[in-house]
Amino acid sequence: MAGRNDSDSRKLLKRLRETLAAPGGGQDRLDNITHHIADSMGTEVCSIYLFRDAQTLELCATEGLKAEAVHKTRLRLGEGLVGRVARHGRPINTANAPAEPGFRYMAETGEEIFPSFLGVPIQRVGEKLGVLVVQSREAALFTDDDIYGLEVVAMVLAEMAELGAFLDQQSDNPQMQHRFAIAIRGTSGQEGAAEGRVWLHEPRVVITNPIGDDPQKERARLLESVAMLRSNVDTMLAASDAAGKEYTEVMEAYRMFAHSRSWLRRMEEDIDLGLSAEAAVEKEQSLARARLESAADPYLRDRLHDLDDLSNRLLRILTGQGRDTGAEMPENPILVARNIGPAELLDYGRKLKGVVLEEGSVGSHAAIVARSLAIPLVINANRITSEALNGDPILIDGDMGVVHLRPEDTIAAAFRDKIAMQAEAQKRYAGLRDLPAESLCGAQVQLYMNAGLMADLPSLQSSGAEGVGLFRTELQFLTRTHFPRRSELATLYSHVLDSALGRPVMFRTLDIGSDKVLPYMKPQDEPNPAMGWRAIRVGLDKRGVLQMQLQALIRAAAGRPLYVMFPFIAEMQEFEEAHRMLMEAVARERRLGHPMPSDIRVGAMIETPSMAYAPKKFFEMCDFISIGGNDLKQFFFAADRENERVRRRYDTLSGSYLTLLDLIRKRCDEAHVPLSFCGEDAGRPIEAVTFAALGFRRLSMRPASIGPVKHLIRRVNLTDLREVIDEGLAQGVSNLRRPITDWLARQ
Ligand code: PEP
Ligand code: MG
Repeated sequence: MAGRNDSDSRKLLKRLRETLAAPGGGQDRLDNITHHIADSMGTEVCSIYLFRDAQTLELCATEGLKAEAVHKTRLRLGEGLVGRVARHGRPINTANAPAEPGFRYMAETGEEIFPSFLGVPIQRVGEKLGVLVVQSREAALFTDDDIYGLEVVAMVLAEMAELGAFLDQQSDNPQMQHRFAIAIRGTSGQEGAAEGRVWLHEPRVVITNPIGDDPQKERARLLESVAMLRSNVDTMLAASDAAGKEYTEVMEAYRMFAHSRSWLRRMEEDIDLGLSAEAAVEKEQSLARARLESAADPYLRDRLHDLDDLSNRLLRILTGQGRDTGAEMPENPILVARNIGPAELLDYGRKLKGVVLEEGSVGSHAAIVARSLAIPLVINANRITSEALNGDPILIDGDMGVVHLRPEDTIAAAFRDKIAMQAEAQKRYAGLRDLPAESLCGAQVQLYMNAGLMADLPSLQSSGAEGVGLFRTELQFLTRTHFPRRSELATLYSHVLDSALGRPVMFRTLDIGSDKVLPYMKPQDEPNPAMGWRAIRVGLDKRGVLQMQLQALIRAAAGRPLYVMFPFIAEMQEFEEAHRMLMEAVARERRLGHPMPSDIRVGAMIETPSMAYAPKKFFEMCDFISIGGNDLKQFFFAADRENERVRRRYDTLSGSYLTLLDLIRKRCDEAHVPLSFCGEDAGRPIEAVTFAALGFRRLSMRPASIGPVKHLIRRVNLTDLREVIDEGLAQGVSNLRRPITDWLARQ
């Protein structure tokens, strides 16, 4: 093909901009654009295909093909050369189109078969909008300059589409990006269903000037912004020096990208072809996103993520658009983010109706906060941040881990039925609030709630919980930027006790380490942090923090009973030592003249299988014991609780795990020590009745689970269920879920 130069490209972009500014409908604009492109490229044909729905492309304008085919010719994603360009997000350039695999002859277009074909995707930051095609009678490949030039034009078309330039009532142009209904299957982070409108944690940057008039000026703007970006990244890197080797390595890779010459060179070339500085950044970002989608290598994916992140930062510098766009939060906001920290999530407070994360994990602290806010959470929702726009209607199904964005009416109606049914069930459960969790055979099970934030405490009243069976004190440490002071903690714990109105609160001392890393503490470079220096191990080695926390707890209790529970006890001596530290703190506080708690009960959390076999003395020393099932299960099966791949592989109702729980229950009974179960499984009704049938008389769970668990316990004869379990175990059934659920169904 004839060589084109920068000035041809800039002339074409100028004509496109005039087309955009001229009055007229969307169809006129598209027709003019195809005409200008064919003219500028010297080709017989130029056509624009846009998505009608997520799977169908439609010919929307053409120069050179039959006019009657416009809005008639349609292709499925992946069908023909056009469909393949769209699917893979990459150009196809051929001198012999009919010989290409997948070529489809579309008779209605009157195509006399143009042998040379160049198609490029019209996409915006990885979002597929359509395909731009030029075809020619002369059987020759298009040059690299042609491809590059056409990509630049496609980029401008994508921006024009984003601005609504092709919307047209008359011709029903389908280029309504962000209009299709899509369903995204992620993972459940917290159950529940919600309907609302999207609120993006990081709103997309809007580019209003894709075309640059003066390449010199645009280059200067780009260079200035890149310099600022580099200096920001360098500052971040300097701040991370103290944060451990692994983090620094990641930041170094990030910095390398920020200083990449080839990245800058490509953007400068885009500017020379007529793009504005921000459009050039976005064009390279779009290409990186398209590559990211097809990259399987995790290292490459991480680096493409880096590039994506840097591009976002650069765009914000160039456009001056921060996170706060001045937009108003819609009613019933559902937060959509790539990932979010617990503190950021807490900042939104109780306004949110739900949360959808592109990444995230079930065991993360954002998940724990979502749980305490009692809002549905879906994680691993692939592509949600590029698909969703602020204000889009959205349905989130936290039970199934599914998100419906811009849902069809039928889906929305079915969903509303589901929400209504859940509300109905909640009402039924609310009616049980003041009734005991008493089984048909007369056994009373105490239902406690888990908490960790002040925001959790109103649930004590509304859920009917009899107390707090697990207060995760580390959440208060995690949501701060510095170590809290002793007096701050004492005030906070005192508020917690005030809100509990005399009901017991089991304070678990700091469980940091593993995934719970304090931003102001040097992270440990450990190969396997879940089994590393965490929880009581840190408390016993670095005594200052634990001592300070124990003092704060004693002062907060002042005249009231105090329950202290030590996490992650893996051998008796650890408990003895922690117990001794508490008693020393009590003696010191007494000496200092502080009022004493009216009673002190000291408990241990069993979170490792080793404690099932601990000496009898351990059980006798404890005033109470609580099983941390999240950790106990991960160590029993050697299956990481945060690894979605293995997490679900092992069932809580497996015979071997229930046998372990039963052994711990028996040993506690022998020592007359009260036992509870406070992992997430306690909040699942079938698991909960099973534990109750094994003899657990206290379960601690998230507040929203208390109703459903109580409902089931009140309808079951635990003695009969115990027989079902014993029979299954005697017969060597390896997983008891089936016999248990079958039996429950028959009741
Ligand atoms: C547990 O391990 O079950 C537990 C309650 O503690 P956490 O989830 O905070 O580790
Ligand atoms: Mg634990």
